[in-house]
Amino acid sequence: MNKAVILDRDGVLNCDPGYVHKIEDFRLINKVIDALKLLKNNFKFFIVTNQSGIGRGFFALEDFEKFNNHLIDILKKNNIIIEKTYLCPHKPEDNCDCRKPSIKFIKESEKEFNIDLKNSWVIGDLPCDIKMGKNAGCKTIYVLTGHGEKHKNNLNNIKPDFIAKNLYEAAKIINAQ
Ligand SMILES: [Mg+2]
Ligand SMILES: [Zn+2]
Repeated sequence: MNKAVILDRDGVLNCDPGYVHKIEDFRLINKVIDALKLLKNNFKFFIVTNQSGIGRGFFALEDFEKFNNHLIDILKKNNIIIEKTYLCPHKPEDNCDCRKPSIKFIKESEKEFNIDLKNSWVIGDLPCDIKMGKNAGCKTIYVLTGHGEKHKNNLNNIKPDFIAKNLYEAAKIINAQ
């Protein structure tokens, strides 16, 4: 079986000024490449991302894909492979079955890539990321980049296994386990 690190995208990998979708606004968060290099030999990488900006009509699926491919290409140039990006384009009111904290996409990756969820990690900057990870039986790290600092107090009874300053610190925590 394979172990995975399931990553939220905006605020974890790239900076998130809010509904980010333009290449000109693309910026990697500090030390993301180094972080993923620390993990790449032991984990497969996935992105699970809520993009309600599509459902709200702020930008198109095509904009999302361009932006996401830009990220994936930069990582690939650094020999980091994202196996798959799972996208929820819906707004909360749509009551879809894929928006985080739904575990639908994690369960799909479990099947398709033979993932050992118990020994996998979910990393995100919003409580719903942590909730998804816990619901799926993964270990979880809440990062303080992106919306993390701001929403820290909304974690309430959702207890991540760890809180880390950023993805790089999260990677070090994972490697120390
Ligand atoms: Mg995020
Ligand atoms: Zn959805």
